[in-house]
Amino acid sequence: MERVTIQEASYRLNLSQAEIRRYIREGRLQASREGGPQGRTWLVELPDEGWLDDDKALYHEMAQGMPVWWWPTEAKTGLAHYILDVGIEETVPVYLCGLESENLWAVTDLRTENCCPTCLAIARERGLPLNLDQ
Ligand SMILES: [Zn+2]
Repeated sequence: MERVTIQEASYRLNLSQAEIRRYIREGRLQASREGGPQGRTWLVELPDEGWLDDDKALYHEMAQGMPVWWWPTEAKTGLAHYILDVGIEETVPVYLCGLESENLWAVTDLRTENCCPTCLAIARERGLPLNLDQ
């Protein structure tokens, strides 16, 4: 377990130092005060990769209820691709595998064999909700 200063943790976890301190207070990050050349300082244990801050936890919650598999063509045949962020920030849909499409069509009755293998592999690797029973 790597232990770093609050400043470094802020940088590595992409959170403000105030947020890091709050997570420590709430016991969601492990930290302890250690003696150092500049006196006693907080050292934070960097969490494992799958650790979720508030935003990411919320995002996962939202994603649970949202369709994540989409057809890139109106024909709705072939492979369905995985997309997490449906046009909130992106102007064109960009799927996990890197495919872009003009528009997207929601998938109903999805079977695993209709899933783009690249999207499926990336989603599994990142621990994203697969919602395969949608
Ligand atoms: Zn794909």
